[in-house]
Amino acid sequence: MRIGIDLGGTKIEAIAIGDDGATLLRRRVPTPSGNYSAILEAIAGLVRSAEQELAGHGTVGIASPGAISPRTGLVKNSNSTVLNGRPLDRDLAAKLGRPVRIENDANCLALSEAVDGAAAGADVVFGVILGTGVGGGLAVNRTIVGGRNRIGGEWGHNPLPWPRDDERPGPACFCGKAGCIETFLSGPALARDYLTRSGSKLTAEEIALAADCDDVAAQGCLKLYEDRLARSLATIINVLDPDVVVLGGGLSNITELCAAVPKLVAGYVFSDGIDTPIVRAVHGDSSGVRGAAWLWPVSSA
Ligand SMILES: [Zn+2]
Repeated sequence: MRIGIDLGGTKIEAIAIGDDGATLLRRRVPTPSGNYSAILEAIAGLVRSAEQELAGHGTVGIASPGAISPRTGLVKNSNSTVLNGRPLDRDLAAKLGRPVRIENDANCLALSEAVDGAAAGADVVFGVILGTGVGGGLAVNRTIVGGRNRIGGEWGHNPLPWPRDDERPGPACFCGKAGCIETFLSGPALARDYLTRSGSKLTAEEIALAADCDDVAAQGCLKLYEDRLARSLATIINVLDPDVVVLGGGLSNITELCAAVPKLVAGYVFSDGIDTPIVRAVHGDSSGVRGAAWLWPVSSA
């Protein structure tokens, strides 16, 4: 069996799947935020309890924000900043007594959806996470393209394309720059925009609900969000021209996005038109954890 772990900022989720992709077990625990050794122990505990319950031994793949730097062997670029500078893969391998594979959560999303999700059968898949953070990942022929520097698909820390005057220089980002795509398309960014317009604090989910109930400020926020997402995807399509773009993360639950954004993208790409499907992840919130499990091929499980 394959065990996949999704190491998120608020929760750690584990899944065990069989060769056919069937879910054998699923567990989640809160992330001990800010405590690296507690995070290691929580992951190891999930693996051990899954193997005990299923009476088997599995491969272990991890979906995590950031990446292992090929220069240092240490985590970089994670918005769970406690992971940065840590040898997460080696520490977990030592704890679990086996090699583990770690990939960016957006790469795992792209892989999961390319294997048996919304992009099944597509050759070039760009996966987008729209959540607490914003990331992108690339799968070609059902294999993650991590890239020479392990930053393949890292799209959230490019600047927002075609910025309006009131979008410059843009909010400060944890990465040290300002105006990154993430600072406009994350859940907290949408909540910030709504607070500015309305004076009220709502979560991204609540803003989507309010828009459905004719809240003008919420509708304005979502309209601008859709346009910003379209601009951001247009630059990907101009460079990569993927077969499918898959949207995952909490904000992909806003159903209007997949209807509105393709039409808006067409106005930004350098083409006489586009027919690129922009679709929601079939596996929803489980795309990262399923992709993590698929990091090990069938023959190794
Ligand atoms: Zn940034």
